[in-house]
Amino acid sequence: MIPSWPRDDRIHVANVRIPSQVLAEGAPGLADEDGLVTLDLVIERGHVGALLPAGSLVDGAGCDADGGMLLPPFADLHAHLDKGHIFPRARNPEGTLAGARAATRADTERHWREEDVEARFEFALECAYAHGTGAVRTHIDCFVPGQAEVSFAVFRRLRERWAGRMVVEAAALVSTDLYDTPENGALVDLIVESGARLGGITYRLDPGEDPLLLDRRLDRLLGLAKARRLDVDLHVDENGAPSSTTLAQVAEAVMRNAYEGHVVCGHCCSMSMQDEPTYRRTIGLARDAGLTIVSLPMVNQFLQGRIDGGGTPRWRGIPLLHELKAAGVNVALASDNCRDPYHAFGDHDMIEVFGAGVRIGHLEAELDRWPSSVTTVPAAVLGVPEGGRIRPGGPADFQLFGARDYSELLARRQPDRLVIRGGRRIDAVLPDYRKLDRVVARSKAIAT
Ligand SMILES: [Zn+2]
Repeated sequence: MIPSWPRDDRIHVANVRIPSQVLAEGAPGLADEDGLVTLDLVIERGHVGALLPAGSLVDGAGCDADGGMLLPPFADLHAHLDKGHIFPRARNPEGTLAGARAATRADTERHWREEDVEARFEFALECAYAHGTGAVRTHIDCFVPGQAEVSFAVFRRLRERWAGRMVVEAAALVSTDLYDTPENGALVDLIVESGARLGGITYRLDPGEDPLLLDRRLDRLLGLAKARRLDVDLHVDENGAPSSTTLAQVAEAVMRNAYEGHVVCGHCCSMSMQDEPTYRRTIGLARDAGLTIVSLPMVNQFLQGRIDGGGTPRWRGIPLLHELKAAGVNVALASDNCRDPYHAFGDHDMIEVFGAGVRIGHLEAELDRWPSSVTTVPAAVLGVPEGGRIRPGGPADFQLFGARDYSELLARRQPDRLVIRGGRRIDAVLPDYRKLDRVVARSKAIAT
């Protein structure tokens, strides 16, 4: 049962279970088999005053969590908030990646004016905030001429409007060959002016195409990133082809160019279809290059493995999560697409993302190692101090659940979770879909 939250400057939160992975070093108490430590927390004027052994007697208003779990603010490292919630007007009957691209392109050309993008983008932020997300990075489609200016303007406005509630970051989404030509310098200028990241898709080369072509593109991209002091965030190997090894090429390019910014690689699905020598080599390179790998379990389970003409999918569309983690690579889980042609569902809820990652990736036996994938690992990339770790002196920002362990946490969607920011419960609620009716027309009734 979820406790009520006092409105006091000093609050003694008794009996919370916190994953040791997201706690400051030196916190008292021993972890159980899932890595959960039972503690008391003292909150003073919006900050964590102290972490104490469970059962400590402290003055102040009380909140007995009765063993409920506490997690730091969620961080969603890979989203597409510019294209979210267009599903009612842009479906993808085949369910393929190619079908999603085509439907999205047509929708972009027809509808993506500032009012439309802003309404959907902000709706997504409202969902994420109400669920407890404190930081998000969105990719922004820059394929249709003129769209980047529109969507980045919306991004900058919303980043400003949401400052103090959520960190909102962006990366440009284009094909990496776009950076080959100097005429596209205007896009790089826009990225710099917007405080965004250099992004792109490392398309798998056609058979017979010279691998050096992609190497040269990556060198050009990283050269630009170095010159303009930009971090990089790429869409990589989003397919099930064993021959798709562009992640290894990205890692080699980072080292070849002595690039010192941060590189995030999203998707990386194809490594699951490669033989062991190939994926071991790639994982080693990713570790040596300091890449952060982000898996999108909900979307890639939805989008990958589609059978021509319909049928049951045969594989899961995720990278080798266990092997990456065991090799010491930083791994995040993120939401990706939400209610668009790439993924018909989703609610920007990192509990749902985490649960999908655990189920699809068979992570349940080592849950002590994975809460960081939706909290501290992506939060650190997004610039949250100490990744939002729960620590004395840190902000009293967290989610408190009635669930006492991962089985209870992931069995339900936790609609009654308390989202606490600066020691106060936020009063945000999930927005009603009707709010989008003015920009997203619903499909007409069809006679049957
Ligand atoms: Zn994506």
